[in-house]
Amino acid sequence: MKQSRLLIHTLREVPRDADVVSQQLMMRAGMIQKVAAGIYDYLPLALRSIRKFEQIVREELERDGCQELLMPTVQPAELWQESGRWQFYGPELRRFKDRKEADFCLGPTHEEVVTDIVRGRVNSYKQLPMNLFQIQTKFRDEIRPRFGLMRGREFIMKDGYSFHADDADADREYWAMFAAYKRIFSRVGVKFRPVEADSGAIGGSFTHEFHVLAGSGEDAILSCDRCEYTSNIEKTEAPRLPYPHAHEPVLGLQHAHFHTPGIIAMEEQARAFRDAEHDGLPLDHASKYYLFRASKGEASWDIGLVLRSDHEPNTVKLKNLVGADFLELVPVEEAESRAGTRSGFIGPVEIEVPTYADASLEGAFNLTCGANRDGYHHFGFRPDRDLKHFKGFHDLRLAAEGDACTRCEGGHYQAFRGIEVGQVFKLGTKYSKSMSCTFLDKEGKENPMVMGCYGIGITRTVAAVIEQNHDADGIVWPWPVAPFEVHLLNLDPGNPEVSAVAEQVERDLEAEGFEVLHDDREGLSPGAKFKDADLLGFPLRLMVGSKGLKDGVIELKDRRTKELEKFPPGEGLARVRAARERIMGELAAAAGR
Ligand code: ATP
Ligand code: MG
Repeated sequence: MKQSRLLIHTLREVPRDADVVSQQLMMRAGMIQKVAAGIYDYLPLALRSIRKFEQIVREELERDGCQELLMPTVQPAELWQESGRWQFYGPELRRFKDRKEADFCLGPTHEEVVTDIVRGRVNSYKQLPMNLFQIQTKFRDEIRPRFGLMRGREFIMKDGYSFHADDADADREYWAMFAAYKRIFSRVGVKFRPVEADSGAIGGSFTHEFHVLAGSGEDAILSCDRCEYTSNIEKTEAPRLPYPHAHEPVLGLQHAHFHTPGIIAMEEQARAFRDAEHDGLPLDHASKYYLFRASKGEASWDIGLVLRSDHEPNTVKLKNLVGADFLELVPVEEAESRAGTRSGFIGPVEIEVPTYADASLEGAFNLTCGANRDGYHHFGFRPDRDLKHFKGFHDLRLAAEGDACTRCEGGHYQAFRGIEVGQVFKLGTKYSKSMSCTFLDKEGKENPMVMGCYGIGITRTVAAVIEQNHDADGIVWPWPVAPFEVHLLNLDPGNPEVSAVAEQVERDLEAEGFEVLHDDREGLSPGAKFKDADLLGFPLRLMVGSKGLKDGVIELKDRRTKELEKFPPGEGLARVRAARERIMGELAAAAGR
């Protein structure tokens, strides 16, 4: 392919509205163009990477017997009403009416549509299991579309759905898809981790996310330095820490004796105690208190949470524990008027709501907490003794880097940032029950199918590859998803001898199936071509120029290692072949580790 014919426009400057590296580089490399917030054109270079990744996904899924189909983007409200999600799904679900005033939505996911397909065609255990997938454009009206292709509103997803006669078979498929995802991301050539993730409060369901590791990732991951345990921080089990003052005499709750004037914000409580330390009160005597509003459907109720002051609340754990769909802090003004004090002095004792305590407070006493009176705190607080509606000690804090691993002896958590590129989810019978997707078993009895669903963000993955693989000069593509494999630079297109050699090398490489972008553009300095080649970041760069040819050589440069080889033009094909072998060998070795 000749670069002079390619739809591409590279930029020297970083576009102003691009806030992450992948977005900056994709825009600078002429791969994408923003059409509206979270909506992009995938220009030819980007589409080549996207298609390559799709092909890897297809091949690995088909190896496991998955079948590809294609469902519509536009979905009728009826199906969503049947599953119950029409009311429940937030504003990410773009609802609209057609000209006949019928309700529709743009599909953010396809559980309803696929369940409708299967229930009409599969009705015997003999037809199960069944695993269907599609690669298709999704629309989610994200509240904050950002980071280019990483969080778009319109994006390409691979979504797969499986149907089973029983739980055990659904589990088998779950682990088969888990293994397929590992093969897929290994083949791409990225560093990734499967992590245990939160599955919400649905009984019988469990899930893993697949994360590409990158400092810019939106998700925090904790991984044990000793065992395999890796999880999204939303889900990471926090170790229970013993109360450090267990040797002290147990005091009763002392009211309003601890005067802490001028501390207003709740977050400043811990600092107040630290200051108070001069008056003899150690920091880990302090507790902190949050007042949350939980909701589920129409119902909403308030709950309290007590934590050690140096711990952070894990709202996902709390939400699941209380069986809520949403959890938010009670607005400050409301909490203040309820407590009759300013926010720094709000405490759990006098506020009569169901109150939960973090497990690391179990056995703790002589704690401080807000006394619900301006300027005052209690001392001698013990949650299980002093709270009227005490709901017990549970793991409700965010685990942190350095915490002891709960799954092994002697391991500690290390923190990583990750970009969620895929997720496998055991759904159970949530959709098959609500949408009557049933089958007759061997005994002729009717049962709901057990389902799983499996997603991969296709466009997000391509962006994540760049987040992980770039340097100051541009993208550093892993071979398997690079738009082109070889960037052939003609450094003197005006010189017929140079052009003849470049043409010959291009033909040789293409005849062997290499994907070559031939920079034949005239009127550009070699320096400008090098800059563009670094920016586009294809794995190999082959340079043909009059200076080299005078010495009888052309040059090959590895984008990642920057290693340079010089050899006669006739060796071009063999050298590129050898470089590919080496690069693919390194990839395979990295995947095996
Ligand atoms: P997130 O938590 O990042 O919003 P999600 O968990 O809601 O994602 P899923 O429903 O699991 O997403 O969708 C499957 C995959 O689709 C995700 O793992 C992710 O790779 C991709 N994806 C989800 N939302 C977006 C988006 N707004 N833009 C690009 N890709 C997305
Ligand atoms: Mg997800």
